[in-house]
Amino acid sequence: MIYLDYSATTKPDKGVLDTFVEVSNRYFGNPNSLHKLGSEAKNLISASTSQIATILGVKEKEIIYTSGATEANNTAIFGVIRSYTTRGKEIITTPLEHSSVLEPLKYLETLGYKIKYLSLDQNGLVDIEDLKRKLSDETLLVSISSINSETGIRQNVEQIGKVLKEYPKVIFHSDVTQSIGKEKINFDFIDLASFSAQKFYGLKGIGCLIKKEYISLIPLIHGGKSTTIYRSGTPAISLIASLAKALRLAYTNIEENYAKVEKLNSFLIHELKKIEDVHINSNRYSIPNIVNISILGVKAETMLHALEEEDIYLSTKTACSGDGYSLAIYTLTGDKNLASSSLRISLSHLTEKEELVVFMKILKEKVDHLKKIME
Ligand code: PMP
Repeated sequence: MIYLDYSATTKPDKGVLDTFVEVSNRYFGNPNSLHKLGSEAKNLISASTSQIATILGVKEKEIIYTSGATEANNTAIFGVIRSYTTRGKEIITTPLEHSSVLEPLKYLETLGYKIKYLSLDQNGLVDIEDLKRKLSDETLLVSISSINSETGIRQNVEQIGKVLKEYPKVIFHSDVTQSIGKEKINFDFIDLASFSAQKFYGLKGIGCLIKKEYISLIPLIHGGKSTTIYRSGTPAISLIASLAKALRLAYTNIEENYAKVEKLNSFLIHELKKIEDVHINSNRYSIPNIVNISILGVKAETMLHALEEEDIYLSTKTACSGDGYSLAIYTLTGDKNLASSSLRISLSHLTEKEELVVFMKILKEKVDHLKKIME
């Protein structure tokens, strides 16, 4: 098998799975229980939270555990609009956000909120001047992800955050799901940040919302005691410990892993450029882990299934988006042909160069074959 879909999800690391099993066996007490088993479980959660906070450079009380980035994004958006009811009703975002940001915003539009979409430049980057123009006394929230999951294009979140610091009433949320574990993030200029463990060799079903302590939030989920008042329910101790483990592992060699992926990326792009019909949609602002290409004249899904026959796995649009062509590629290129034939190859430090050599050989054969059939 050649797995080139790491941005859709990753296979859990063995150490992460071991932590999950061990904690489930040894610390099965309810952290809310007053007896010894409860306090042991509670202490383990505190230790995990402390590790996560130290790694990310945030405060322990700023960590809210969620079921993943989808819940974190929803908690951030709805939590803020319910909490700051006397502020404005405008939200600024980009057309390139994940569906777990865009769909809540579309729903808010039906409730009378005004959603303003930022213009992007020819490289897919947020136009800072446009952001300044769109900010108004009515702006409550700005939500911009750090990395677009389809193209890998990285926004300058720090620069955006610094601009927004000059507007103290505006809250800045960033979905950092595609960044975490791949590169270090400075949370100093972000008020709210969401991510999921499944993208960095952790388990599905656990994620975080980082909420700066000065931001108030009405929870989405009300109920019994948890690790914070912002998300009720018995804390998922084994998942929390596994998240801390995944983060520790990801940060241990984060620079080395990044450098390895950069090399793989250069090799891949060099080889892809040799195929006449391949158009590379990712650009120099893209994280090396994501290479988005379009194969002119070949429908994305046709190629995906042709590669699947050879046990090679990659993505068309992000696994979470709806049917049709890729909105991200269309936004970036303005070309429907490119947008309907785009494929996302996503790499990891676990990817071997030999896998890319085999992938390229098969890709070339498939392109020739499919183009012949279509002639
Ligand atoms: N945001 C981004 C940028 C993502 O890539 C994903 C996962 N595809 C999510 C949010 C949602 O994560 P989850 O499904 O784990 O909630």
